[in-house]
Amino acid sequence: MATNADTPLDQLWKEYGQGFRDFYDLTLARWLAQTLGQLKGRAWRHSHPLLGAYRLAAELAHERQIWLMRLVAIPPAYSESPCCRAPMLPLLTRDVREAGLICQHCSETLVPFDEIPAGLQGELGDWAATYAPVHAVAHWDDRQRKDAGDYDHAYENAADEAEQLLAQAGRQFAPRLLEFYAAAVWEDQDECLEVRPEDVPL
Ligand SMILES: [Zn+2]
Repeated sequence: MATNADTPLDQLWKEYGQGFRDFYDLTLARWLAQTLGQLKGRAWRHSHPLLGAYRLAAELAHERQIWLMRLVAIPPAYSESPCCRAPMLPLLTRDVREAGLICQHCSETLVPFDEIPAGLQGELGDWAATYAPVHAVAHWDDRQRKDAGDYDHAYENAADEAEQLLAQAGRQFAPRLLEFYAAAVWEDQDECLEVRPEDVPL
């Protein structure tokens, strides 16, 4: 989700992405379609290596407008995204109330929050509302930190809670997205609270 192109990690991912730049458009389109077939029917961690590779290829495909060229058919289980016409592959994040579900192809809003099916929308809204003040601890200003007394303790508590909330997203909500989408992805880290994917067991 990082947009700052200058971090060392972003540089590394750019280097990884070079592996796909030698692909012809048709090869890239086939790779994406075949991989979507393998992603089908499961909720995936954002950190999963297959998803990491898929995102690199998807980003390049978006740049080259592969899905608009109709070089391959969209795999049958997938609907077409309104944002960029790629197959729908939604990402669930803690910002779901503001940003909706995010497109893994163009990084825009794929499904606005108020268009998420009703029952699930309410539960996701409650979950995100619980998460927001937990995440905010990482961004407290000096006065708020002082008021808390022991900020390190408050930060660690918040990180523990974030781990639980992320695990809930992976266990409970991401699988329910499969009722509506062929495959789904859930964010399994909180960089501001230093919660890593390996801290979020299912
Ligand atoms: Zn899109």
